[in-house]
Amino acid sequence: MNEHITTILATAMVVGGTLCGFAAGNTDDRYSTWPVYDGSDLELSVDSNGTHFTLWSPEAQAARVFLYDSDRNTPPVDTLDMSRSDRGTWRASVPQQLYGKFYTFSIKYGKHWLAETPGIWAKAAGTNGRRAAIIDLARTDPEGWADDKGPRVGNITDAVLYEMHHRDFSMHPSSGIVHKGKFLAMTEPNTVNDYGDKTGIDHLKELGVTHVHILPSYDYNSVDEANLPANQYNWGYDPYNYNAPEGSYSTDPADPAVRVREMKEMIKALHDAGIGVVMDVVYNHTADNDNSNFSLTAPGYFYRHRPDGSYSDASGCGNETASERRQMGDFIVNSVKYWADEYHIDGFRFDLMAIHDTETMNRVAAELKKINPSIFVYGEGWTAGDSPLPVERRALKENVSKMDGIAVFSDDIRDAVKGHYSSAEDRGFATGKPGLEETVKIGIVASTAHPQVDYVKGNNSKFAYAASPGMIINYVSCHDDLTLTDKLAKSMPGSTEADRQRAARLAQTIVFTSQGTPFMFAGEEVFRDKKGVHNSYKSPDSINAIDWNLKHTNAEQFDYYRELIALRKAHPAFRMTTAEDIARNIIFDNTDIPNLVSYSIKNNANGDEWKEIKLVFNGSAEAREVNVPEGDWTIIARDGRIKATGLGTTRGGRLTVEPTSALIIARSK
Ligand code: CA
Repeated sequence: MNEHITTILATAMVVGGTLCGFAAGNTDDRYSTWPVYDGSDLELSVDSNGTHFTLWSPEAQAARVFLYDSDRNTPPVDTLDMSRSDRGTWRASVPQQLYGKFYTFSIKYGKHWLAETPGIWAKAAGTNGRRAAIIDLARTDPEGWADDKGPRVGNITDAVLYEMHHRDFSMHPSSGIVHKGKFLAMTEPNTVNDYGDKTGIDHLKELGVTHVHILPSYDYNSVDEANLPANQYNWGYDPYNYNAPEGSYSTDPADPAVRVREMKEMIKALHDAGIGVVMDVVYNHTADNDNSNFSLTAPGYFYRHRPDGSYSDASGCGNETASERRQMGDFIVNSVKYWADEYHIDGFRFDLMAIHDTETMNRVAAELKKINPSIFVYGEGWTAGDSPLPVERRALKENVSKMDGIAVFSDDIRDAVKGHYSSAEDRGFATGKPGLEETVKIGIVASTAHPQVDYVKGNNSKFAYAASPGMIINYVSCHDDLTLTDKLAKSMPGSTEADRQRAARLAQTIVFTSQGTPFMFAGEEVFRDKKGVHNSYKSPDSINAIDWNLKHTNAEQFDYYRELIALRKAHPAFRMTTAEDIARNIIFDNTDIPNLVSYSIKNNANGDEWKEIKLVFNGSAEAREVNVPEGDWTIIARDGRIKATGLGTTRGGRLTVEPTSALIIARSK
């Protein structure tokens, strides 16, 4: 989701305390008196007595179910009139199990019958999702599904997150993958590029990431599933059916069971490889307003409005949902629970999470932990515009300490290390801009309180907003904005490719050694670019697909990333779990050298075999010298090279830190 302007807005609203356009607290409206239905049989259930339809629509004057033999272009084979029932619902039943049939609802509202809708709880759907489908979900389970499990995660800081779009990952001819752009792409072992380097799932195993974070994979609106040869591309931040997979990622969008089965096969293949699956979820807005499935089911209820009745728009996409209303909050909670139960999803990334209220997010985290304690939740702690929801109730970055088991992206470390996202030419710490040292330190301590970090000097948030490192996701790029490769090209005019790769290594070394949870954008390990396109949400594959032959061209870059990840995974000192541990074990060196940050992680932190790790980041184009205590040090990283088990040894003393590079040394005694 594009966040342009959002960070500034969100921050300004908290820091400045100004609310433009809305009276604070103005979300308690007429909908608060609507009945709430918490039954688990919403919309469709099939049992030995037949097929049952239950639609929640308190203000409908009448409701109908249309039954179909096929997913599109055919008239209904039957129409069922629904009867008003308890807690705002309407019900209809037939004595047969209607597996193989499709259905839609229509309600009478304001004297008119509204357009048909598959409802908001379609768990299966046909082409373009316009008709919901009745399928036996148990028959979509791949072999061995009952025993399928994702990786066990003690703390979110143990995760290494890899953000990936299905088409980016597999569409390029060099991927060697058969099922390009499909869920099944991730199920293919032994794929290679033109030089024999591993691609696909084998590449992920080689890289060592713990979790793949897949961009929206629920059924979204934009790509025409009836015309797959057109090869349309979209990120998918235009939700249509929240509880069914996207059809264009399946081999047959017309067969509703196929997308379900193939997505499960993808998840099982990743789990079998020891890799978890995080799903990007976008409950904060819908693709349509009056014609969305929410509006056609219970008009008005699911969205926030301005005092004049128009849709408020904190998403920047034309509307925003109203999580603070019980039936909407329950929808979000029950939807993620469904994905966790039925699809074994290991984590959720909430788009524009600050549009949701902190109470709902707390319910999300608590309910998911009951299903699987290893599930984690993180999100964008900002909005893309103002909202009627009061600032103190928003799941903002600055409110993360009010939430339990929720993490937020650190735009602090992101913008400090590589330069501001909104200005392509702006440089950051890793590209030689002085004055960002304190914000880099804020990133290193995961925005927790630390006696040597002065938040007032921070570039963005002015206080230690995280109560623990598990609340912070560190990154320097994602699908939004320029890739790191493109950002470096635009902000380092006249540089060589080697210069830029060096800067990328330094930037990611800061991310992957910082406290909190590291996150990377797919393909950066081979220095992928997007030809300078910063908002590629519907750009063609020629912009978005990763050229896997870069793994050969940039082999040293890949090796660096792989070793960096190995270093983090081998050493719990980089993965502390409490703010107290961080404050006690991280000691910054007092230095006033511009573009230099130097610190130690001491005391065998978090049970590490290393007694002390010294990290020096030199973002300037000049070599710098630092004094290190005498000792038996192992050199882990130096001059743009890294090896988790050591590049050599040093006795310490006066050491040179080469331009645009990290020096990491460690000692066990
Ligand atoms: Ca779709």
